[in-house]
Amino acid sequence: MHLFIYGPPGSGKSTIGRILAARLGRSFVDLDAVIEASTRQSIRDIFALEGERGFRLREQKALREAAADVTPCVISLGGGALLDPDNRALAEASGEIVFLQADVATLEGRVAKRPGVRPLLSTAGTGECKTPPAAGSGKPVAQLLSERAEHYGSFPNRVMVSDIPPESTADAVQAVLGWYRVSGMGNAYDIHVVADGFARLQNWLEPLAIGQKTVIVGDAHTLPLYGSRVKAVLEAMGVQASLVMLPAGEAHKTIDAVRQLWNAFLQAGIERKNVVFALGGGVVGDLTGFAAATWLRGIRWVNLPTTLLSMVDAGIGGKTGADLPEGKNLIGAFHPPALVVSDTSTLTSLPLHEWRNGLAEAIKHAIIGDPALLTYMPAFSAFLKQGESLALTPRACAAFVAQAMAVKVRIIQQDPFEKGIRAALNLGHTIGHAIEQVTHFGVSHGEAVAIGTVQEARLAEEIGSAEAGLAARIEALFSSVGLPTALPIGLSVPALKEAMSVDKKKADGLVRFALPVAVGEVRINQVISDHMLGVLVHVQQREA
Ligand code: NAD
Repeated sequence: MHLFIYGPPGSGKSTIGRILAARLGRSFVDLDAVIEASTRQSIRDIFALEGERGFRLREQKALREAAADVTPCVISLGGGALLDPDNRALAEASGEIVFLQADVATLEGRVAKRPGVRPLLSTAGTGECKTPPAAGSGKPVAQLLSERAEHYGSFPNRVMVSDIPPESTADAVQAVLGWYRVSGMGNAYDIHVVADGFARLQNWLEPLAIGQKTVIVGDAHTLPLYGSRVKAVLEAMGVQASLVMLPAGEAHKTIDAVRQLWNAFLQAGIERKNVVFALGGGVVGDLTGFAAATWLRGIRWVNLPTTLLSMVDAGIGGKTGADLPEGKNLIGAFHPPALVVSDTSTLTSLPLHEWRNGLAEAIKHAIIGDPALLTYMPAFSAFLKQGESLALTPRACAAFVAQAMAVKVRIIQQDPFEKGIRAALNLGHTIGHAIEQVTHFGVSHGEAVAIGTVQEARLAEEIGSAEAGLAARIEALFSSVGLPTALPIGLSVPALKEAMSVDKKKADGLVRFALPVAVGEVRINQVISDHMLGVLVHVQQREA
């Protein structure tokens, strides 16, 4: 599927298109540049010689050729390219269109910087702009926008452009679309977060050449809910799919479950060229990814996350594994998926406590690197604490998930194998994992991360690396969606410290923390003395 970037003249289509093409690992096509290259004339000269009609014919031809390319590209369009209904139908059939919206003042400023380049804004009587304009003056832009208001208003995927850095506009486009690409750990892979992901699955699977047989791994909740939908997509592609159901929950993230998957792969005759599917939360994803990493020395897998937690966090990044009785995730491998498709409509069946677990990771991501995510929290608070229905449209919900996930994407792009900055994603996890361990998973992963993050913020304040009041602010965020923030009463301090010392992030005999400095900033490699840890826990429990 191509990505078409559309919008009025001056909205930055070429600049944003180029950034997105680089991020998505695609070729970039600037349709105006293609027309100029093919005619060896500037757009302005084509308008002068052939009029708008002549230009539109050339534009239509160039669009047909670009859309016919089987390799997905990012294509920036001229500001009137989709006025023609045939052009629009072609773009909609061959990809997604994102409209860049900008206010008159922003557009005027940009147009004024390059007077005469855009013919409809500087040449009298050649097109929709009937009034002879002075190049770069305000009226023509306003007039063009008003004449095209209905047309421009009809594109559902929209991003507001203003004088923010183009990279930030590109971030917003990716959140609206839910399209990402992760590279740096083996083969690059695409991530799609959309409200109707399963309906579009075939489009994204086809380039993977997955062979004719597969196994879909789910758990006792996800397989009955969504197994047949995914199976139907695969069968329509001529792929024979066997379903394997694991017991649900962290207690079953064991090597026995992995063995069950190896047996299923054996029975289904899964070969090296085949792909297996994980359909579920982080437990199903971690287990299936690990079974895929180890089957025949590594086969490809596709992740279809169905919990908020796995969509924003566990389902991406390529860490796979299983637990041992001695500790969480002690067995594992880096083995990235070949594709991740998060169909956010599956969240409608998610129990409320699983929403909270996912929000714990989303709030963690806001603290690590995107405080803007917190603007969604009032909607989640009303949903989870006041029992109202979720006041987010399916599109807004998908955009929230995509934006929350993007924090992790940006970090794992920089440091795929956790040699440095990726450790920031462990915020709240050093204490959190220990809590899960000591309570034998009586405290869920998200709850443990919420508690762990608040406690780690307290530590950060205690050692003077965080601003005063940070822990209280973070505590309020987690509480607003009904997550716990205090250590469970009666938790054994020695057991907690022991669990942390087994934590795999221990290096050189030290437990290293990622500690928050402010909302939006985390410092990694922070060493906390045993004494300090003990005091904090005791104080906590006394307060409780
Ligand atoms: P989970 O997989 O246990 O799912 C939680 C529950 O929700 C399960 O009962 C599941 O059956 C149910 N469920 C899933 N999707 C559903 C849906 N759409 N409707 C109804 N019920 C549904 O847990 P999780 O919270 O998704 O993931 C936690 C796991 O992820 C932990 O094991 C954690 O260690 C791991 N994790 C891994 C990474 C990583 O980078 N690999 C990162 C973070 C967490």
